[in-house]
Amino acid sequence: MMTISYEYEGALYVNLTNKCDCACVFCLRHNGHKGSIYADDLWLEHEPSRQEALDDLLSRDLPSYRELVFCGFGEPAFRIDDICWLVDQLKARVPKLPPVRINTNGHANLIHGRDVTPELKGRIDTVSISLNSATAEEYCAVTQPRDGIKAWEAMLDFTRKATAFVPHVVMTIVDKDKTPQDIARCRALAERLGATLRVRAYIPD
Ligand code: SF4
Repeated sequence: MMTISYEYEGALYVNLTNKCDCACVFCLRHNGHKGSIYADDLWLEHEPSRQEALDDLLSRDLPSYRELVFCGFGEPAFRIDDICWLVDQLKARVPKLPPVRINTNGHANLIHGRDVTPELKGRIDTVSISLNSATAEEYCAVTQPRDGIKAWEAMLDFTRKATAFVPHVVMTIVDKDKTPQDIARCRALAERLGATLRVRAYIPD
């Protein structure tokens, strides 16, 4: 069975792609899905078409969720055009659609070769970007991006640009192996870009 959407802590998560331009050392995609919090395997046998995703979402009682979250087993930004289309379709059909969030590595503009942030306006309420670390070197070591250091710069630039169009721009780090100084550096970096830092607790396998 293919899982396009699933419930987690009162929110509805949407999984549209397996693709990613990173190979994070902690990613569930390449550690045998160990530690997965999900009942079903999230590896998509094929990428759902926009229509398949729309049908799946319309089969849900959407107003009953506190949030609609595009995340995935890959990087949702690969399908940013389809996400915008889906949000437009849902807003037209579903009164009281919950707020919409994208969980992303922040590489959308690098992936698409254009600035997509204006397209988020009026569609996306929260963008949550994985900051991972306060330095380019550490970031690249942990996320192993296809484009190397350009990906770090693109992530920071995307964050700054998104703050003009998205009400809530959040950068996240996981507290594991972080000193209070590391966390302070991440917070200062996020705030310089106009974003808010969220420190997530590490959940061991
Ligand atoms: S950015 Fe996300 S999907 Fe991509 S490798 Fe890292 S954890 Fe996995």
